[in-house]
Formats: sequence, structure tokens, C-alpha cells
Amino acid sequence: MSKYESINPYTNELIKSYDNATDAEIENALTAGHKLYLTWRKQQPKDRSKILSAIADNFKKNREAMAKMMTDEMGKLYSESLEEVDLCVNICQYYADHGPQMLEPTTLKTDLGNAYYLKQATGIIMACEPWNFPLYQVIRVFAPNFIVGNPIILKHAHNVPGSAELTEKIIRQAGAPEASLTNLFLSYDQIDQVISDMRVQGVALTGSERGGASVAQAAGKNIKKSTMELGGNDPFIILDDADTHTLRKVLSDARTYNCGQVCTSSKRIIVVESRYQEVLHELQNVFANLKPGNPMDKNTTLAPMNSQKAADKLQAQVEKGLENGSKMFYQFPEIKSNGAFFRPVILTDISHDNPIYNEELFGPVAEVYKVKDEQAAIELANDSSFGLGSSIITSDIKRGQELAAQIETGMTVINGRWITAPELPFGGVKKSGYGRELSELGLMAFVNEHLVIDVSQN
Ligand code: NAP
Repeated sequence: MSKYESINPYTNELIKSYDNATDAEIENALTAGHKLYLTWRKQQPKDRSKILSAIADNFKKNREAMAKMMTDEMGKLYSESLEEVDLCVNICQYYADHGPQMLEPTTLKTDLGNAYYLKQATGIIMACEPWNFPLYQVIRVFAPNFIVGNPIILKHAHNVPGSAELTEKIIRQAGAPEASLTNLFLSYDQIDQVISDMRVQGVALTGSERGGASVAQAAGKNIKKSTMELGGNDPFIILDDADTHTLRKVLSDARTYNCGQVCTSSKRIIVVESRYQEVLHELQNVFANLKPGNPMDKNTTLAPMNSQKAADKLQAQVEKGLENGSKMFYQFPEIKSNGAFFRPVILTDISHDNPIYNEELFGPVAEVYKVKDEQAAIELANDSSFGLGSSIITSDIKRGQELAAQIETGMTVINGRWITAPELPFGGVKKSGYGRELSELGLMAFVNEHLVIDVSQN
């Protein structure tokens, strides 16, 4: 693990360093979190609705400050940071409006008596989150658990400590009780220590396979429920009947939004041969028209990567792909800057034995595959250790729906790139993890479905 530091990837200059949490801070967070859980158990979800609405309002009020902090720390375009804050406002409001009703007891049909199950809080949840959407990843866990009544201990990524602190501050300022969300700058050993504590009842991690495997192991060892939202190598399938206008619109940012650092970004572009050349040239057109620059500037369309280390890692993966037979169809020209910029690349001819075939390339690299028909497209799509998102571009919606059911991923978008909204479940299968965030499914992730049955009449 690296130190907790904010480094502006546009300048590669250090903004601020942060100290790791002390043992006393960890103990205080656990004590306060557990006390809050016990208090919340005596209340109803609707009692917390108003505060969650106030939190949504406070993020609205602090929209620009929150967005600027995220752009300063991980380099994303300011316009995308603003969109991220707006999405989080909607997530908080969604659970404030719908959470209490979703948490009503469910009646069960049985001949054995009067039966129902309650949906109860379980205790403190530890959230380990990545830097790519510094606010959204946290709110996906925080908002539903706030309504359920589970306090959160947040361990954010080492490169977005300022965003972590500001998120905690905005939540507290809105009137949330102490310990609703406690940010701690934890080392990996301290994460294990927190997970093993009796007062912690669940672990949510969003991140890579590396982080997921380690934290899931700690959760398993301590019999704690966990959700894992991990990486993806998402197939983006273009069928022969794809509408040209739709295709152009979808390709315009499918691989470049957030500088390609989206778990569900369209990483493997799988094209039936009749449309292959057209897609390559369309992608080249999109990439060649990008404008690198200051992510705070509204004319910039190509942001730096989140860190120099990430840009170097991606470069090494591209070189490994080329050394193993892949071809470079296009590369963006040199970018003169001290920032962590990466020159977008289009790769073709990636064979099954190329080591990058089954890796996640987390940045603006389009891997384009040519296939003979839709059956071959499905086989290629499923030939991956990952199974997060997918897209199908076709004019025949019924055909798209039939194909969607054959793809081994947690999500499929027909005629669009990846998508997220409070009411839609988010998550994957295979090495993309398990469990779901958002929607009613996400709300239930750390709920105790407590059966109550009255058998006195039987
Ligand atoms: P990461 O290295 O796994 O980090 C995620 C979080 O886990 C960070 O807080 C990190 O802390 C912590 N962590 C990492 N290794 C750990 C370990 N061995 N023990 C304990 N904690 C550990 O992931 P990332 O590179 O920051 O994020 C990018 C990845 O996230 C990509 O693979 C992307 O696809 C995935 N992602 C998935 C989703 C989804 O919903 N499925 C959404 C967004 C991103 P440090 O920063 O201190 O190392």
C-alpha cells in the first residue's frame, strides 16, 4: 500500500499528505459506530429519511467544491466530476424516498402459521473503495446502509484522501449523527484488524481482483458477509444490423469517459466482419479528435490518468500485448505535459494466447476483435475470467435480448454503453465479484432477513 497522498495528476505535484489512523482513532470509530447501530435499531428507517434528503441537499450545495476536489486528486474532467456529484444526490434521494417502503416486513405464505420476515440492520459495515469515482463508489454503499441503519467505516483509496474527508464532512454537516460514516486512513493490516472486530458485520469492496481477493479472504476468515465489485473486461458487441447513428453516438465516449477508467467501460469491442473496418475508423475518429489538457478546462476532452503509476502500468500492458503479436491500429500523437497523460491506443489482432487477452486494461485502450457472426461474438464475449457488464448494438431488439441472456455478465445494455442509476442493480459474476449495489438488491446486501412465525393457531 502507498501513503495517503493527494497528488494532482495533471501536474504530478503533491497537494497534501495524510497520516495513517492511530489505534485510538480506530477504537473510537468502532465504539461510536456500534453505539449508533444500537440507537438506530430502536428507530425506523423512515426516521432517517429526512436526514438522507438533507445529505442529498448538502451535496447539491457543495457540488462545485466536491467536484473540484475529485478532479484535483484523480484528474477526471471537471464536467464528469459534476455529473458524479449529481448522480450521488440522486442516489441519496432515491433511498430517502423508497428505502423505508422497501424495508417493510415481507409476509410469507405458509401453512405453518402467521409468518413474515423483518429486514433489520446488522451493524458496522467496512467499505473499501477505489479512486475512479471517489464519491459515487462511497455513496453506493453509504446511502442504502444509512437507511437500513448500518454505520459505515470508510477506507478510501490512498490517492483520494481529500475526497474521503470532504465526503465525511458534507454528510456530517447535513445533520447525520456521528459515526454514520467515519473515514479512516487505514493500512492493509489495520483493515484486517477492523474486519476481525466483533462489532463489524460486513465488508463491501469495490476495486481490483488483487484488493478483492485479500479483503474477501479476511471477511471469509472472520465469517463476515461481503460484497465484491471488481474489475471487468467488458464486451461491446456490434452486430451486422447495428444502426450507424446509434453506433456512432455510443462509440463517442464508450472507451474514453473517465479516461477509460470505468470498471464497465467497453474494453473489448467485438465486431462482426461486415462492420469491422467501419468501427475501426469510427473509433480512430473519436480518439484522434480528443483534446488533452487541464481537466478543469471545459474544452478538454482527454484527461490525465489518475496517477503516473497507472499510466506506466497501462503502457507496459500495451507493450506486452504488442510483443505478443497484437497490432497497433492507431495511437494518439505525443502529448507535451508534465501530467500523467496516456496516448489513447486502438489494438487489433489480439490472439487467445496473448497475455493481455484476459486482462483488464484500465484506461483509453480499445481492443478491437473481428468475428464472423453473432455466435462467435457470444463465444468470445464469454471467453473471459471477468463478467461485469456488456453491450449489444443491433437494430433488432428481440435479437439483442436473446443474445443478452447468453452473455455471462451481471449487466447488458442494448444499444448503449454502460449505465448506472440508483434504481438499477450494479454488479458482476466470475472474477468481477459477487453481490449487487444500488436498487432494492443493493439495499438488502447487509440486511438481516429475520423470520418471525407465530405457530400458536396450529
Ligand atoms: P484496488 O487497488 O483493488 O483498490 C481498491 C481499494 O482496496 C482501495 O481502497 C485499496 O487501498 C484497497 N486495497 C487494495 N489492495 C488491498 C489489499 N491487498 N488489502 C486491503 N485493501 C486493499 O483497485 P483500484 O486499482 O484502486 O481500482 C480500480 C479497479 O476497481 C479496477 O479493476 C476497476 O475495474 C475496479 N472497479 C470495479 C467497480 C465495480 O463496481 N465492479 C467499480 C469501480 C472500479 P489502497 O488505495 O490504499 O491500495
